[in-house]
Amino acid sequence: MKKCIYCGTEIDDSCIVDFCEKCGVQTFGRKMFDAIIENMTKAKENGNLCHNIPENNFQESKKTENFY
Ligand SMILES: [Zn+2]
Repeated sequence: MKKCIYCGTEIDDSCIVDFCEKCGVQTFGRKMFDAIIENMTKAKENGNLCHNIPENNFQESKKTENFY
């Protein structure tokens, strides 16, 4: 179990951030907190994808994106 860095409440290990929802909302506000969770989740998903795609292919797809 991880613990919230602010209040020490136990949080799920699968939780993307190191603080509980209550403290997150208190610290950042509901909108910001949701945005953080969303961004962190996306980043994690992208990170996981990267492990499955060879580095070069990833770079190529980036270039293509920029080109168009
Ligand atoms: Zn907390």
